[in-house]
Amino acid sequence: MLLDVKDLHVSYGAIRALRGISCQIREGEIVALIGANGAGKSTTLRTISGLIRPKSGEITYQGQSLIKMPPHQIVNLGISQVPEGRRVFTRMTVMENLEMGAYTRKDKAKVKEDIKKIFQRFPRLEERKNQLAGTLSGGEQQMLAMGRALMSKPKLLLLDEPSMGLAPMLVQEIFAIIKEINQAGTTILLVEQNAHMALSISNRAYVLETGEVVLSGDAQELANNPEVKKAYLGE
Ligand code: ATP
Repeated sequence: MLLDVKDLHVSYGAIRALRGISCQIREGEIVALIGANGAGKSTTLRTISGLIRPKSGEITYQGQSLIKMPPHQIVNLGISQVPEGRRVFTRMTVMENLEMGAYTRKDKAKVKEDIKKIFQRFPRLEERKNQLAGTLSGGEQQMLAMGRALMSKPKLLLLDEPSMGLAPMLVQEIFAIIKEINQAGTTILLVEQNAHMALSISNRAYVLETGEVVLSGDAQELANNPEVKKAYLGE
């Protein structure tokens, strides 16, 4: 077990966003969290990253509790998040954004090599390496946000709605890249509204409704589940 989340409760003031979420991620998996707007998907990711403190519950990563750990230390342990809406540094170049992703690393010589690898995975970023990130298209910004997260060499990559706002062709491309990143050895926790795409690349999934897990299991089985089909796959 790489990550074990147990009975997580999170509130924003009076709003109870998470009402006892539990989920597990094994090394090497792609796991999806699916659900409607406001179900608590992003809150779950942000709590794992240490950006939000839960009221109660436990998060264990490789046997170590993350509950009281500051976000930078969580990054150092190998967990990196790509936030919703990309959030690249718009006034920095593509290259500078990638360098920022490696700022916690001490092996600066290897950082250069890794930037080369990112450019192999995302050739479009190399063509635009001196361009300001704010002038990239939405899909290119998504690639940059993923590239930047990969620069910290995460074991576990948390992706928040990678398909949001992208044209269908680009959605296919981004999901293909997610699969490649996984096959190269990175475990992935994926939050998606596009349940169809998410289930198609995941090993397992959790369905969230108003801060609770209502269904979970094998991704293919969930994709064939009549309730899931009706509520999330538009069938
Ligand atoms: P979406 O797909 O729309 O992003 P989500 O499943 O990721 O939805 P969350 O963003 O985790 O859902 O939100 C869960 C609940 O918490 C929602 O009711 C939302 O309004 C509320 N919420 C989220 N962030 C805040 C905040 N900063 N302050 C107050 N309430 C918040």
